[in-house]
Amino acid sequence: MNFDTSKELYETAKTIIPGGVSSPVRAIKPFPFYVESADGSKIYDADGNEFIDYCMAYGPAILGHNHPVIKQAIVRQLDKGWLYGTPTELEINLAKRISSFYPSVEMMRFVSSGSEATMSAIRLARGFTKKNKIIKIEGGFHGAHDAVLVKAGSGATTHGEPNSPGIPTDVTKNTLQVPYNDIEAMAKIIEKNKNDLAAVIIEPVLGNIGPVLPEKNYLKELRALTAENDCLLIFDEVITGFRLAPGGAQEYYQIKPDLTTLGKIAGGGMPVGVFGGRKEILELISPSGPVYQAGTFSGSPCSMAAGIAVLDYMKQNRIWETLNKKGDAFRKSLSEIVADKKLNYYVSGIASLFVVFFGEKPTNYQEVLKCDAAGYMEFFKKMLDDGIFLPPSQFETNFISTAHTEEDYEKTIAAFEKNLPKKK
Ligand SMILES: *Cc1c(COP(=O)(O)O)cnc(C)c1O
Repeated sequence: MNFDTSKELYETAKTIIPGGVSSPVRAIKPFPFYVESADGSKIYDADGNEFIDYCMAYGPAILGHNHPVIKQAIVRQLDKGWLYGTPTELEINLAKRISSFYPSVEMMRFVSSGSEATMSAIRLARGFTKKNKIIKIEGGFHGAHDAVLVKAGSGATTHGEPNSPGIPTDVTKNTLQVPYNDIEAMAKIIEKNKNDLAAVIIEPVLGNIGPVLPEKNYLKELRALTAENDCLLIFDEVITGFRLAPGGAQEYYQIKPDLTTLGKIAGGGMPVGVFGGRKEILELISPSGPVYQAGTFSGSPCSMAAGIAVLDYMKQNRIWETLNKKGDAFRKSLSEIVADKKLNYYVSGIASLFVVFFGEKPTNYQEVLKCDAAGYMEFFKKMLDDGIFLPPSQFETNFISTAHTEEDYEKTIAAFEKNLPKKK
């Protein structure tokens, strides 16, 4: 494959954009490919190369790229103008749909990104409980703001900076960490801090270090613990939302959190974030209450129109049953390849998420870090050369979409077979 144009673009990009990218996970070494267009399951770069995409914009594109129904909704809205600074009926229509998928989300507010959603949800939890501390899970990623950039997953782990400089210790001292799937550690830290503990924020399935699943009853016990100790439970469903099931992980695992954050799929690929939950909590948000939160682009008409279109399409076509079955079959094929090659690797995943961990089954962040991340990157490059775009890090989840075809899966399976290392 020829990457000359991308290489040249990267040289220029680096001179004017730090690291040549607008978000660190995109900085594939030695240089990223620069995209020209994408359609369905395929993504095309500036040199004319075609890839089957399993990165899928890191989650939003559950119907594939450039979906005609979403596109039509956006184009229709463009004709009427795309930003007003006053309310639209679109916001009500999207909110009603989200609430019908997520009964725990009785009220919600729209923002422009998942980061903004978790930032606002944490502020709201602190305002409601009048307490300061939060607990997050090691390796959990909730966006790129101060309170949550402590032992964070995703790009923060890939680039070796899970704790970012530039964040005052006065802020991070209020962010407590606990390993995933360890209910005893959680119980201890809650007990010790309960007088000043506002919330536990958690990705119910740890999605930003590859999907790591909750062990039996972990989430149920966490729900009970938080309720008993007067701190709120925030489910960050920016990845799992609309993906595991229409009502996300809370429907899949039958847990009712106090607050929920959504994003990614919720805007059909347009920028969006949502935070919502119990009415008595949400009513504290300005102007109905004193907790301040605002945004010029919040409830942006194209994002709302695209969100409505994607939710209606998914519901009408009941995509989950088929898509999740495809996920199961695909993971099974991958597991067989790994077993055939006698690798001690582990294929993890749920619904339409998957990852091949280059190591034994992990249950938390520390165990994920033991995987052979360098070996994964060698594999990643071989796959890219064979026209398959996986996330450029061991510490990210892979996504399938309704646009991926049997032919895509066959090609991908063959490439895994060819490129996974032989047992040393
Ligand atoms: C992507 C992600 C975020 C951040 O969302 P942005 O839209 O990138 O700001 C927050 N939480 C989780 C679980 C995510 O996967």
